[in-house]
Amino acid sequence: MEPLRGAIRTYAWGSRTAIAEFTGRPVPAAHPEAELWLGAHPGDPAWLETAEGEASLLDVLTADWEGQLGPVAHARFGDRLPFLVKVLAADEPLSLQAHPSTMQAIEGYEREERLGVPVSSPIRNYRDTSHKPELLVALQPFEALAGFRPAARTTELLRALAVSDLDPFIDLLGDAPDGDQSDADGLRALFTTWITAPQPDLDVLVPAVLEGAIQYLSSEAGEFAAEAKTVLELGERYPGDAGVLAALLLNRVSLAPGEAIFLAAGNLHTYLHGVGLEVMANSDNVLRGGLTPKHVDVPELLRVLDFTPTTEAALRPAVHTEGPELVYQTPAEEFAVSRLTLDGAYLGHEVDAPAHHDGPQILLCTEGSVTVHAKSKTLTLHRGESAWVPSDDGPIRLLAQQQAALFRATIGL
Ligand SMILES: [Zn+2]
Repeated sequence: MEPLRGAIRTYAWGSRTAIAEFTGRPVPAAHPEAELWLGAHPGDPAWLETAEGEASLLDVLTADWEGQLGPVAHARFGDRLPFLVKVLAADEPLSLQAHPSTMQAIEGYEREERLGVPVSSPIRNYRDTSHKPELLVALQPFEALAGFRPAARTTELLRALAVSDLDPFIDLLGDAPDGDQSDADGLRALFTTWITAPQPDLDVLVPAVLEGAIQYLSSEAGEFAAEAKTVLELGERYPGDAGVLAALLLNRVSLAPGEAIFLAAGNLHTYLHGVGLEVMANSDNVLRGGLTPKHVDVPELLRVLDFTPTTEAALRPAVHTEGPELVYQTPAEEFAVSRLTLDGAYLGHEVDAPAHHDGPQILLCTEGSVTVHAKSKTLTLHRGESAWVPSDDGPIRLLAQQQAALFRATIGL
């Protein structure tokens, strides 16, 4: 076990305060800090702070994959750490995006290889052959748009905006019989129409929708106030962008600290604002659908999107508790995430915190401070600090004198 120092990624949508404050560095930071990567992604591996100095986690893993991952994880995933942990701090909305399934990623990667698109090219869609399921746990209040809302509810929203230009589009959602399949067909038809609409049409329709949102917000504190506000914010930033319209079709999700959403392949989503812990399969495969100056490949996005409607509640993973550990249940094989909360009867004495298998663990303290005992050594992690626990260094035991919280990411076998 060694302390792990994350790699900070600066993007325009990041925060000059959240990650700097969390990791105990001067505030405000020189650049907007968007993500803190705790993993072994070749693009920006985290650093182990060893007695001999700093070492890239990727280099340490590369020197001994089987020893670090353990025989079970190594047999299953080979020479790679299958998950990536990020602290994400969004001051502004991210791009509208979706991630492919494994089959789609393999097929897309091979296709782009055949076409000779360099992996580093900004127009490259598939940078690896992996799917990218994501779990986002709010560390502070977190706002997002995710998954297509059931069509009947979206029809209510569009009618509430009272924009006559929207009428033909409401018809596309259809008055077909109820059911997920006809919903999905209507949502596909409407989304496809909007995302492929000529710019002159969007330059009329988007402002009309924004005007409708303004009227809606000024006339009543209605049930769609959050949706209307979000559309206004997105429209101010990206005038004439089809993504502003697409945002009308997605569930508006507000997470309190500790609450989570799980995003499976094909889920259209964007993070709007907040600080969260994101754990995902170790992949860079993103298909964007607007709200970004970056490359948008509409045909490829349409190929991977899942139009099956979902609800906010369905996006939230089930949880169960085992002693001090709250486990977020997801179908992902690459990762498992839990939060260990030490309070009350768990304070002042050592608490066993075994993982369910012998895989490696990444620990991140998010509240208070926790002393972690592993086989090789003992470390005290304060808020914002993390550690790498190789396979053969567990099981761990924890000790806290005052209320503390520690997130654990490990493999999900
Ligand atoms: Zn995503």
